[in-house]
Amino acid sequence: MATPHHAHCIFCDIIRGAAEVSMCYEDATALAFMDIQPVNPGHVLVVPRQHYESFLDLPRELGMHLFEVAMQLAPIVRRVSGLEGMNLVVSSGAAAGQDVYHFHVHVIPRQTDDGFDVPLPFPGSRMPDRTQLDATAARIIASLRDPMRPTPAKTLSAVK
Ligand code: AMP
Ligand code: ZN
Repeated sequence: MATPHHAHCIFCDIIRGAAEVSMCYEDATALAFMDIQPVNPGHVLVVPRQHYESFLDLPRELGMHLFEVAMQLAPIVRRVSGLEGMNLVVSSGAAAGQDVYHFHVHVIPRQTDDGFDVPLPFPGSRMPDRTQLDATAARIIASLRDPMRPTPAKTLSAVK
């Protein structure tokens, strides 16, 4: 529950009714509201009611539920915004550009030349050779098979 990066959490304020918000979806464990600095009109944030800092802290079932909500909202956001393109964005950790340390999924309607960019494939990539790609894949496979591997964040018995 701690917020090491910011003692104060604006999303927790919103959830307890202590800050202004334009809510567009609510259920027992999740909600969605309009981003105050949208890439395009219709930019929505899907947020768990409970404070988890990042993707890696999130119980797996809750993560699946948030993705389900994002999937439910995506076609509606597309219809309401009238924009065809869509990015789902999760930034987890300072190094990944996370600004609000209460986990959230961005549902971002996109149009050509809107000025937003997720530059993939990454122009700065050194493009490793196949041997290196295979070696990293092998390490991941070995880790997945390791009975001592860190388990995904604890599951919740009921998230809905
Ligand atoms: P990030 O943590 O980098 O994924 O982005 C945080 C997002 O939260 C940004 O897009 C902000 O515009 C948005 N945001 C910050 N404060 C609020 C708020 N009070 N209400 C709605 N959106 C917010
Ligand atoms: Zn919070």
